[in-house]
Amino acid sequence: KEEPVKEVSNYPKVSWEDIGDLEDVKEKIREIVELPMKHPELFQRLGIEPPKGILLFGPPGVGKTLLARALASEIGASFYTINGPEIMSKFYGESEQRLREIFEEAEKNSPSIVFIDELDAIAPKREETTGEVEKRVVAQLLTLMDGIKGRGKIVVIGATNRPDALDPALRRPGRFDREIEIRPPDTKARKEILQVHTRNMPLSDDVNLDAIAEMTNGYTGADLAALAKEAAMSALRKFLKDNTGKINLDIGQIPPETLKELKVNMD
Ligand code: ATP
Repeated sequence: KEEPVKEVSNYPKVSWEDIGDLEDVKEKIREIVELPMKHPELFQRLGIEPPKGILLFGPPGVGKTLLARALASEIGASFYTINGPEIMSKFYGESEQRLREIFEEAEKNSPSIVFIDELDAIAPKREETTGEVEKRVVAQLLTLMDGIKGRGKIVVIGATNRPDALDPALRRPGRFDREIEIRPPDTKARKEILQVHTRNMPLSDDVNLDAIAEMTNGYTGADLAALAKEAAMSALRKFLKDNTGKINLDIGQIPPETLKELKVNMD
């Protein structure tokens, strides 16, 4: 079972270069988070509140977690992740207690990014939930966000693929009041993501990433990462079999059926 709380220091650093495409999103998220974290005095001087919460929305596997992690690495912030469904506990008060602990830690080790994956599991529309746990946990989350001190030093990033399912109270000013949509990659974006995931692989000269980007309509970043890995594995298998002394990766050799199969397996 996955632990709901993790700190980025145990993770390999993620940099902006590890994210293919999404230039506009990277820029936007930096503008929202980096400036107030580095120069809270500017915001104070202007009399405006730095943002506390950002909502990233888009389908699974498009890089929401990756972005939050890269942001934390790049600005040297501590990183805490909360997995929405994981933190929901049947035991009375346990989920709220865990949330409080995470925010306390984040405050202690600020600047911090608190990333909440699958936010909709924690905070569905209150009128739609029958569960008492959800109601209490949303209330706790809102209280914690309202209570964030150290202006701009803690930013909560929530991710969801169902923004409409969220409790609207979460999207009010002072809470998750910035929203960034992340769309599935188009052809050009897919090529850039493939470049990221094959940059340390010995690609065959005749590999045509443009062509593969064209063939992979409907693939997300996660699908493309899996594709590159699968190509590497297949090159390795081949190498072990015919022992030519040369590992050459040819994504193009993966037949279209396999491409489809891979996609199906990942859906
Ligand atoms: P989920 O909603 O399922 O958590 P997500 O949007 O948070 O999905 P990530 O976990 O960030 O997606 O992405 C999964 C993996 O897919 C990443 O670790 C990375 O390998 C790859 N990936 C996704 N998007 C990109 C991208 N734009 N560039 C490079 N790799 C990407």
